[in-house]
Amino acid sequence: MREGGMPVLERQKMPAQDAGERITNFNEVALGLTEKQVIEEAKRCLQCKKPQCMKGCPVEVKIPAFLKYVAEGDFDNAIKEIKVDNALPAICGRVCPQETQCEQACILSKKGASVAIGYLERFVADHERNKGVEAPHLPEPTGKKVAVVGSGPAGLTAAADLARMGHSVTIFEALHEAGGVLIYGIPEFRLPKEIVRAEVEYVKRLGVTILLDSVIGKIETVDDLLSGFDAVFLGTGAGLPSFLKIDGENLSGVYSANEFLTRVNLMKSYRFPDYDTPIRKGKHVVVVGGGNVAMDSARCALRLGADEVTVVYRRSEEEMPARAEEIEHAKEEGIKFRLLTNPVRIIGDGKNWVTHVECINMVLCEPDSSGRCRPMPLAGTEHMIESDVVIIAIGTSPNPLVPRTTQGLEITKHGTIIAKEDGATTKKGVYAGGDAVTGSATVISAMGAGKKAARAIDEHLK
Ligand SMILES: Cc1cc2nc3c(=O)[nH]c(=O)nc-3n(C[C@H](O)[C@H](O)[C@H](O)COP(=O)(O)OP(=O)(O)OC[C@H]3O[C@@H](n4cnc5c(N)ncnc54)[C@H](O)[C@@H]3O)c2cc1C
Ligand code: SF4
Repeated sequence: MREGGMPVLERQKMPAQDAGERITNFNEVALGLTEKQVIEEAKRCLQCKKPQCMKGCPVEVKIPAFLKYVAEGDFDNAIKEIKVDNALPAICGRVCPQETQCEQACILSKKGASVAIGYLERFVADHERNKGVEAPHLPEPTGKKVAVVGSGPAGLTAAADLARMGHSVTIFEALHEAGGVLIYGIPEFRLPKEIVRAEVEYVKRLGVTILLDSVIGKIETVDDLLSGFDAVFLGTGAGLPSFLKIDGENLSGVYSANEFLTRVNLMKSYRFPDYDTPIRKGKHVVVVGGGNVAMDSARCALRLGADEVTVVYRRSEEEMPARAEEIEHAKEEGIKFRLLTNPVRIIGDGKNWVTHVECINMVLCEPDSSGRCRPMPLAGTEHMIESDVVIIAIGTSPNPLVPRTTQGLEITKHGTIIAKEDGATTKKGVYAGGDAVTGSATVISAMGAGKKAARAIDEHLK
């Protein structure tokens, strides 16, 4: 019940493609709420005087204000309100882990179910895109120039905010398409690429120039950039895959999740030969890891036509870092989970093709430095899992190219760029944020870092 005695309506459920149907296609799984549903959902908001939800949002969206507009059916003002703080709402509405951020902080989560903030953000962003996005207001130019390296959520947010402040911004992107992980990593069925493209287009309309196929550290160094720009922001992400370092990892049919997902998403190998990048469509696919990347790889492998996809994870389900919703969707689709299991060796057929993964059972001992229980192998439990494709999804670290080619840019022993809270690095005029600084994290934390760095760069330029 509401404090004033009014009933708290039930949280609206997201309609989804049927599990049996969706494993045959790459179309979006979540179908979106109807107009009636979003208004009902927004009416659940209590319009708290001290809204806790906002504390859970790294880019500080004025959540109650946008929800009030949604409750009134005024979607145009709702999206305007969000866009003051968030240039990528259709993306955040789809992939942000709201259940551990704004929605977890929402007062209603303590009394039952939080307001479905993410679903409503998604709806109003889609509403605007379908109607045609209004041209943004462009400020007076300041005459200052900023280079942004990397076009993932950190780089796009920093660029959008700096452009709104009147600075001239150029993004340098290594790949042939902008968007970072949003375009090459997260699959179409969770985040349709037309949505990423539309949000990148919006950033361009703010006056940002995007130069593709431009690897900084190869075509030019950060030091070269500093001779033509007043400041540089590094949003280069953490795209270097980690491996298990076990025998057989070099066999054909073994992929890093990064390569596998790039082939599927960016290069559209699921539409080979219409697109010219092939991929091995395994019958028995083993995915090693327990995060979003592992879930995405497993669900892509299934959609490519595998008979069986097994996720092998060395801890238990409780410790899995993937979003609960992704694990749930994977289970509904028939992905198998071998928990407390770890690969020790990958075995081939003598002609260099993978045939099996040898695994061992694990037990959880005392918590490690991350607070999670350390898994230990159980001697004598070695066993084989048949497999013709193995995907390693156990984490990534930042690519060392930029730090190696930039004088005075210091990094940690994990390869992440050392930066203060506002993004300032150890090199004057160079700022950094997102996965390049934190290691693999989330879209919204990368956006939050891009936003803070934009403010600091603006101060620096003044
Ligand atoms: C498969 C997958 C699924 C995920 N799912 C989720 C999810 O559901 N929710 C969530 O919140 N987070 C998710 N994440 C994490 C999230 O995508 C990242 O935390 C986020 O994209 C980091 O943003 P970023 O801008 O720091 O880096 P990135 O998105 O990695 O972008 C970095 C960009 O910099 C470019 N670059 C790198 N080096 C250079 C160079 N030298 N010169 C020029 N350009 C360069 C890269 O090509 C890339 O485009 C997922 C990650 C992966 C891999
Ligand atoms: S905490 Fe929840 S109920 Fe309160 S303003 Fe935020 S979304 Fe509305």
